[in-house]
Amino acid sequence: MKKIAVIGSGFSGLSAAAFLAQQGHHVSVFEKNSSLGGRARVFTAQGFKFDMGPSWYWMPEIFDRFFKKLGADVNALLELQRLDPAFSAYFGLGDYWEIPDDETKLINLFESTEYGAGQKLENLLERAAFNYHMVMKDVIFKSGEKISEYCDPLLIYHSLKFNIFKSFASHTRSQFSDPRLLRILEFPILFLGGTPQNIPALYTIMNYAGHSLGTWYPTGGLNSLINAMVHVARNLNVQIHENANVTGINIESGTATSLRVDGENIDVDYVVAAADYHHVEQKLLAPEWRRYTPSYWDKRVLAPSCLIFYLGIKGKIGSLRHHTLFFDQNFDRHLDAIYSEARWPANPLFYVCCPSKSDATVAPPDCENLFILVPIAAGLENSHSEHERIFQNITARFAHLTGHDIRPRIVFKRTYSVNEFANDYNAFKGNAYGLANTLKQTALMKPKMKSKKVRNLYFAGQLTVPGPGVPPSLISGEIAANLVKEAIENEITI
Ligand SMILES: Cc1cc2nc3c(=O)[nH]c(=O)nc-3n(C[C@H](O)[C@H](O)[C@H](O)COP(=O)(O)OP(=O)(O)OC[C@H]3O[C@@H](n4cnc5c(N)ncnc54)[C@H](O)[C@@H]3O)c2cc1C
Repeated sequence: MKKIAVIGSGFSGLSAAAFLAQQGHHVSVFEKNSSLGGRARVFTAQGFKFDMGPSWYWMPEIFDRFFKKLGADVNALLELQRLDPAFSAYFGLGDYWEIPDDETKLINLFESTEYGAGQKLENLLERAAFNYHMVMKDVIFKSGEKISEYCDPLLIYHSLKFNIFKSFASHTRSQFSDPRLLRILEFPILFLGGTPQNIPALYTIMNYAGHSLGTWYPTGGLNSLINAMVHVARNLNVQIHENANVTGINIESGTATSLRVDGENIDVDYVVAAADYHHVEQKLLAPEWRRYTPSYWDKRVLAPSCLIFYLGIKGKIGSLRHHTLFFDQNFDRHLDAIYSEARWPANPLFYVCCPSKSDATVAPPDCENLFILVPIAAGLENSHSEHERIFQNITARFAHLTGHDIRPRIVFKRTYSVNEFANDYNAFKGNAYGLANTLKQTALMKPKMKSKKVRNLYFAGQLTVPGPGVPPSLISGEIAANLVKEAIENEITI
């Protein structure tokens, strides 16, 4: 039995901890914050319960598989609902769409918007389904340590046949021209941290994930997934420590011997660092043990950060759905503000989550819980005046488009942005979603899971393989646990 320390209690840390404990090791999780879940934490105020981060529960089979492998049943732990409509979108005044949770209805919607688009969507989803299953089987659970992991002839054949490395935009924009259809297909890209131009067409798998596998919601919010993971981890005897800030990893002759936690040294045999990769390397390791230089990090393309408003609203907002996207302004201009110019967007697109539409537990009676998210460039400094300008801009547009002026009905408001991400999670440049999934930052080209210089140090989380998002983070923890398992087995046989 080994003493294994996991730094961070986000999805990746809890996943790694549970799998390592299942192998029979003594596992401790150290989390700097007073509550668990990392970016998926929750806070309550005035009877409202706000999920602080993720709100889209996509790829349900990843969660089913995760709990099953750990001897639990997702349906016994979570009360899941499949949302229909999956989401809605405003493209302008009177131009409002509800995206059905039904492939045939979606195909009909595309066809009624643009002649031939229905058949093209059907083809796109069919190919995306094939690629999705190929990625699940042959790519996503790989550690990205060696090129040989991806040398399966069938994988290479299909990757070339479907030209999955051309850009997402060239794939979608050569087939569809109505900008509304493009927005529906391209919006998940924004959260993968790229533009349709620099993300590979492979990521149309997100369209299959979103439109064919369904948009789900666990009652109690996405943080209930964290609670379920904590429950499973504790049942496997994982020791979880909140308010436990790791300030250093002590190394002797290339081996991590202990963690420095709030002034105390905790002995370790192995470490899985599931806090932001950059923070661990640059702040917790002495320079001689770092694999990547500051200039390496400066050259990384980061996924966006966010400006978030958590709002408690008195009274109901009639027609609003659980997830609503506001595409009434220029998409490319907003992307330029994030990626090319790194400035505050003038008229940003935004996303509104209203979980109280599906869940009475997250708001007091006759109230709504709103989470409004505006993607912005990572590395921007907080600016109270820009936050307020954007708040006025989007709430005025919300009123104009939906007919509901929420401004006089706000009973609670909290603003959260780049500095909060940096302070609360030690997030590099205050990123929200880690590294962008551009072609040059995919699989083998991501920061590696195994430290090159410290024998028993491994990394997990959204800045390494496979990338940002709840399902990938969960998988990242599992891969890290497998790498540690392999190392321990090799140690025993040596
Ligand atoms: C606003 C927002 C919305 C999102 N929406 C979605 C969505 O709808 N669907 C989806 O799939 N994904 C979404 N994501 C992405 C998803 O939430 C993340 O990819 C995922 O939660 C990352 O998990 P992680 O374990 O890598 O990191 P984290 O959750 O950041 O966990 C790392 C943990 O390490 C801790 N830590 C850092 N430094 C130390 C230290 N020195 N000592 C101890 N602990 C430390 C941090 O406090 C944190 O708890 C969203 C993210 C954000 C921010």
